[in-house]
Amino acid sequence: MSPQRSRMILSILMLVSVLTVFLSLAGFLPEDGTAQRLGWIAGDDSGIGQGSDDNQNAVGDPSAPGQQLPTNAPGDGDLTGFPVAEMVSRDDPAGQLDSWPADSSIEQIRTVDLSAWKGRALDASALSGITIFLDPGHGGQDTGALYPAHSSDPIAIESEINLAVARKTKTELEALGATVILIRDTDIWQSIFYRIAWTGHYLVQQFLAELSAAGYQSDRIEDLIPLLDQVMQINSDSEESGGRGLMSGEGASEELRLLLDLQAQYEDALYLSIHCNALDDDSSVRGLQVYYLTGATAYARENELAVDRGLANAAPVYRMYQDESRRRLAGLVHESVLERFPSLKYEGQKSLVDENYAVLRELNLTSVLIELGFISNAQDRHLLTASSSQQQMAEGIAEAVYHYYCLP
Ligand SMILES: [Zn+2]
Repeated sequence: MSPQRSRMILSILMLVSVLTVFLSLAGFLPEDGTAQRLGWIAGDDSGIGQGSDDNQNAVGDPSAPGQQLPTNAPGDGDLTGFPVAEMVSRDDPAGQLDSWPADSSIEQIRTVDLSAWKGRALDASALSGITIFLDPGHGGQDTGALYPAHSSDPIAIESEINLAVARKTKTELEALGATVILIRDTDIWQSIFYRIAWTGHYLVQQFLAELSAAGYQSDRIEDLIPLLDQVMQINSDSEESGGRGLMSGEGASEELRLLLDLQAQYEDALYLSIHCNALDDDSSVRGLQVYYLTGATAYARENELAVDRGLANAAPVYRMYQDESRRRLAGLVHESVLERFPSLKYEGQKSLVDENYAVLRELNLTSVLIELGFISNAQDRHLLTASSSQQQMAEGIAEAVYHYYCLP
């Protein structure tokens, strides 16, 4: 090799190393193997989050359309440790709770293509692949509202009406091809937190099965199972009992945030809580109200509570609910039931209400709580207790779900 040729090669090598050091300092090159790992976490080269042609494992229905999972998992196939981002937003006003950042703490590995349902006819397969959790409020020793109020021999019992309407709704939704899960199908008592923990448990198990089928595993997600078991075992609504477990206190722990972010990937599932209203001192008030929850309201109400109790140790507030989906579903249920019962028009301030109910806050499916009418009002009570009008209410709710998924 001539001296000139050697010098030229040396110069090129030096240039390359100088360039490498520059790029590395400027943050363009990985210092070790982590960049590659972060690369697939960000979903840029693995197909994760962009779907594949492999449709499998929707909630409750392995042949569901529109739901996609990655098929070519990276070799190490281990999600352990990646889900949670530590940083909290500091944009919120001083003296108020922080919020978790808007980005999900977990990679979008479950993509639901909602357009797969759009335009479907109202027939036996319209809602195939869709899972509906139906929650008939109250039960057992917790009767909910009674008529007459506080009577030992009531002629109308909210928990029974809720269950009757929920059962009929289940039949109607199944006739449209949906998978329906009744949270309770007998007259038993379960705490509000039991119901949402049970639903969370169901979804985490589904998610783990889907991860496993795609070649992944995650200790962080598996660790949610015992936390949810704990809530169900204590089965109490009272804070003193510790029954809220994972769902206790103001704000959301990292684990709760992870759970809620995971649930957000189930756009092919809805949660409908069915109730009746009552007003002890005014029997003239009547009508249908549908409740939903947005992130802004969750944040505002959690702040009010935290101010009452002192802000010191409160965790950041979770506010990444699908506001528009929830508002839309509430509007559709309201419209569809009113269409059948115009007399159920609520004359008070609001018939669609954005409210911080635990059942809507501690579960991140698109969800609504339906107050079908007032047991304390004679006309509403007649509708709520008659099997034929319960049936029409059920048809109205099922039609709203059809509308939600299948119409524009
Ligand atoms: Zn109720």
